[in-house]
This record gives sequence, structure tokens and C-alpha cells, in this order.
Amino acid sequence: MKIAIMGAMPEEIAPILERMGKYTITEYAGNKFYECSYSGHELVIAYSKIGKVFSTLTAATMIERFGAEMLLFSGVAGAISDELNIGDMIVSTRLIQHDLDITAFGHPHGYVPGGKQYIDADKKLIAIAHNVAGELGVILQEGIIATGDQFVADPERKGWIKEVCNADALEMEGASVAVVCDVMEVPFFILRAISDVADMDASFNFDEFLESSAQISAEFIIHMVEKIG
Ligand code: SAH
Repeated sequence: MKIAIMGAMPEEIAPILERMGKYTITEYAGNKFYECSYSGHELVIAYSKIGKVFSTLTAATMIERFGAEMLLFSGVAGAISDELNIGDMIVSTRLIQHDLDITAFGHPHGYVPGGKQYIDADKKLIAIAHNVAGELGVILQEGIIATGDQFVADPERKGWIKEVCNADALEMEGASVAVVCDVMEVPFFILRAISDVADMDASFNFDEFLESSAQISAEFIIHMVEKIG
């Protein structure tokens, strides 16, 4: 199968590229796409750059131009749930855009006509992830991820997202990737390791823990690829 592995920042895909060792590089649409084979699959790997627009472009490109039949996202996120600490992993059951707002017309947050307020991730991939976690003896939490074009470092905004979106973690790319994969009928999986807790210290914690948390997520994604039949 052709599997897309995507991150938002170089640090999120570096551990995967390092592990692959050999790959070809194609430059397209202002980005680099790395291709190789691993564990009986063809992989296309890329980081999109931060935010919903770039991640939408990259996900669509990986599917349309590179023929990806499945997409796995690896990266870091800010925690909302008190159960999540720095370094912990969360797999997203469903995703919502917290900054998509036409509520003035009576619609719920995260919803526009023709779209969905929440998008469900692929249940089979989530089940595989729980198997992998069991085998590795690591804890994998699951929950709702809220996405928006904003680095949240503010308890008030975090509390608002928790209340309105019922979210457990927040980041800047998951829901946009989910929209693309959902309409293109490509199974997807969004994994995040916590880099900060979206509070006043978030930017300092992020800088300190980006690399280690990105590595935790990336290693898990490699194990996932090995398990996918
Ligand atoms: N330090 C970077 C910017 C990082 S933005 C720079 O200066 O270029 C944060 C990235 O990590 C995004 O890709 C987002 O998906 C994720 N993320 C981690 N913690 C987050 C938080 N508290 N709020 C929003 N996104 C967060």
C-alpha cells in the first residue's frame, strides 16, 4: 500500500527519514516529498509547514499527486485534558476546527454547510495503534483534537476550546488533514505527543520538548507502518 506520513515541522518527520535512510526527493508546490519503501509498503513522507492551509495542501498533494491510499500524521500538540502530560501520546478519535466560526448564523462552532463539525478518524487504524501500544507496553490515550490557526498559550482560550469543542488536545493541522482525507475517502490517523499544556509556559515548554515529543510520536508511527497489512 502507498502510505503518506506527514508532519507539520521538520522535527516531526526527521526521526522517520533518519530511520528510512534512503529515499528519493521530489520537489512540488513549494515542498519536498520523500519516497521510499518500508516493511512492504511504499511511503511518501513530508512536513507541510505549520497551520491549516499548508497542511491541507500537503495532504491533498500526497493523495492526488503521489497516490497515497492512507495517511498517518505524526507530531506534537498542546494538552487540554488533565490526564495528558508532556511526552504522553494521544490518538485522535475525532477532530474539529476550533476557529471555524459562522455561529452568527446559528451554526455550531467548527461547522460550515456541506462539511462536518467533527470528523472521525479511521477506527481500524486506531485499533492497530492500541495493539501496537500494548505490544510496546506504552500508554496511548485517545480523545478529541481541536485544530486552529493559532498557537494557544492562554488558559482562558484553552478553557474555551475545552468547553466548546469538548477537546482533549489542540494543535494546528489535524482537522484540516482530516477534512481532506474524509472527502477523498482516504483512511487517516492523527497521533500527537504532548509538547506543552497550552498555558502561559507553552512556548518555553514547546521549545524544550518539541524534539523529544516529536521523536516519541515518530517512533510509534514507524511501528504502526510495520503492523499495517
Ligand atoms: N516554534 C515554531 C512554531 C510552532 S507552532 C516556530 O517558531 O516556527 C506549534 C506547532 O506545534 C504546530 O504545528 C501545532 O500543530 C503544534 N502545537 C504544539 N503545541 C501547541 C499549542 N499549544 N497550540 C497550538 N499548536 C500547538
